[in-house]
Amino acid sequence: MRANIDGHFLLIGLMAYPIRHSLSPKMQNIIYSKLDVPYVYLAFEVTQEKLPDAIKGLRALGLRGSAVSMPNKQLVCQYLDKLTPAVELIGACNTISNDDGVLTGYNTDGMGYMRSLKEAGVDIIGKKMTLLGGGGAASAIAVQAALDGVKEISIFNQQDECFDKIVEIAKRINDKTNCKATVYDLADKAKLRQEIAESTVLCNATGVGMKPLEGQSLITDPSMLRKDLVVTDCIYSPRKTKLLEIAEAQGCKILNGIGMMLWQGHAQIKIWTGQDAPIDYVKEKMG
Ligand code: NAD
Repeated sequence: MRANIDGHFLLIGLMAYPIRHSLSPKMQNIIYSKLDVPYVYLAFEVTQEKLPDAIKGLRALGLRGSAVSMPNKQLVCQYLDKLTPAVELIGACNTISNDDGVLTGYNTDGMGYMRSLKEAGVDIIGKKMTLLGGGGAASAIAVQAALDGVKEISIFNQQDECFDKIVEIAKRINDKTNCKATVYDLADKAKLRQEIAESTVLCNATGVGMKPLEGQSLITDPSMLRKDLVVTDCIYSPRKTKLLEIAEAQGCKILNGIGMMLWQGHAQIKIWTGQDAPIDYVKEKMG
């Protein structure tokens, strides 16, 4: 507990519902203490119904900003003054910055994923990636990858409510960036094999591999993975998903979702405080 909180401290929020289980308040406050900056981070249970009032409250009380999570990521965009190009393309915001009353919406999930690749020494710029999934994480990764200069993205999703949404986002990527994004049905395994064979990175951005689908993998045939393919999973619990186990056994370089999570937090802290979060220290503290 910080003993030196005084009248100069500013509040950063997290607006979501449900949210009491989140590890973000612990992680963010550990970092603010370590950096010795005058911010505190608190989680607020904000439903979609309460969101308009919560944003008015953020403005009235002069919060420095807020993280935004489900179910508010899409809805919140209409209440903000400015959106980054990534948020315009994704249609979802997970970070609000309040700069002298002007609210800007950012999406740091894709930034976190791209930074985690870079930190692991993986160069995907100008190359092709295959992305499994079309939900929130996949949309953010596809858009940030496209904005950062990935040349081609092949996206595979099952025929569910996410399919049409990711097709729309791929259209926007194709209209607004130099990247070519194509969406395929996940059931087309021959196409999936072919696209992976042409890719530098394979990324799982579905929930397959974590509870209640722990122990499962969308890739079950190891021959679809070659040694020089980098296989990444957005999931961080468990640390090594079935997909990563299969990929490791094939000799692929593997990356779990820890880096994405830490680097997206790093991006948020940079936006709110201008400081670089001590990533190694956070890793050590969070276990
Ligand atoms: P979401 O609900 O928005 O999307 C879920 C996706 O999984 C959809 O594309 C859906 O079609 C797919 N899916 C679900 N069940 C499937 C199945 N049985 N077979 C094939 N596809 C299936 O969720 P999200 O927010 O995009 O999260 C996706 C994953 O990414 C989760 O595991 C989440 O924990 C992880 N994630 C990690 C980070 C991080 O910082 N590391 C950040 C966000 C999300």
